[in-house]
Amino acid sequence: MDDVRRWQVPGRVNLIGEHLDHNGGAALPIAIDRSLLVKARRRTDGTVNVWSRGERASFPVETVPGDVSDWSAYPAGVVWALRESGVPVTGADLVLESTLPVGAGLSSSAALTCGVALALDDLAGAGRPREELARVAQRAENDYVGVPTGLMDQYAVLFAQEGHAVHLDFGVDPPSAEPVPADWGDDGLVLAVIDTGVHHELAAGEYAERRRECAAIASELELSALASIGLDGLLSLTDETAKARARHVLTESTRVRGAVTALRRRDWAQFGAMLTSSHESLRDDFAVSCEELDVAVDAALASEALGARMTGGGFGGSAIALMRPEQVDRLRARVEAAFADRSWAAPTVFTVRPSPAAALLP
Ligand code: ADP
Ligand code: MG
Repeated sequence: MDDVRRWQVPGRVNLIGEHLDHNGGAALPIAIDRSLLVKARRRTDGTVNVWSRGERASFPVETVPGDVSDWSAYPAGVVWALRESGVPVTGADLVLESTLPVGAGLSSSAALTCGVALALDDLAGAGRPREELARVAQRAENDYVGVPTGLMDQYAVLFAQEGHAVHLDFGVDPPSAEPVPADWGDDGLVLAVIDTGVHHELAAGEYAERRRECAAIASELELSALASIGLDGLLSLTDETAKARARHVLTESTRVRGAVTALRRRDWAQFGAMLTSSHESLRDDFAVSCEELDVAVDAALASEALGARMTGGGFGGSAIALMRPEQVDRLRARVEAAFADRSWAAPTVFTVRPSPAAALLP
């Protein structure tokens, strides 16, 4: 079995800068120590087999959008997008093993698409740059699976650094990625994740709707992307909903800059305050939170978190909280009780560390 190549691919948590990637703005994710392992072996018969979570998917390398619609659309989409970009895929056996919760807003989808893209690029000896593989992975989700995601998740998975957050700027092409030390651990703090366990049906539709709203406002203001909006532009908007959406994009962009500064200064009170106001903006102005996320954030703040917010696209998934480790058990008890009171299924609470990007294992 020495022809098997193994890729370890992390999930991600976005610290701040939500819904800005599709607006030409910034984000500040970390890769996390929950990951997907992709074991890959080349085939030459034009068949791709993928084993994951007790199931096997099989499809020809000539697959095109519309062929499959279950989870195998993710790897099949990567095969399609890679071939479209000129990488010769002759077939493969892929075994996926994951410690990353699926559908929890921690980007299991980008871990899968980026991991499969890296593995197949490697088997083909193509050596495409990671910027290009990020686009391939995005194309697989957008045009094969049919989910209109931005590029943040793929960039987090492919460009993160251990012990660092990565400051991404989607206002330039290709996006820039600058590491920023994320060493709250040295100051005795941890980052807790509260996986609400819910994923509301309206998530994909509302995500697409927010993208459309933002694009329409940008075009009304004759901006190439909404993240370049200024106060004058915001004040010139008359529609209250449009104004609220634009206010999130403007204030969130400012918060990302503040958070980067706070991170560099290890000013955790300031950093935490940015997290919490980001959540309020996503809840009130951008309207992408949900009851479960709000309850999780409130439980974190009641457990003396320095700051807490939903992370990812919204309508379910996970929230994060920066806190002292001795408060994590209290948070777990509090959020479990709050969920039980509402007859919701129990959430999961765990801590994560800023971890390395996807890498080939020796
Ligand atoms: P997230 O990326 O936040 O985890 P998504 O809804 O974007 O949530 O992606 C989840 C989907 O990705 C799953 O429903 C499944 O189709 C696919 N997926 C992710 N990880 C795996 C895996 N390890 N095995 C099979 N399918 C997976
Ligand atoms: Mg995803």
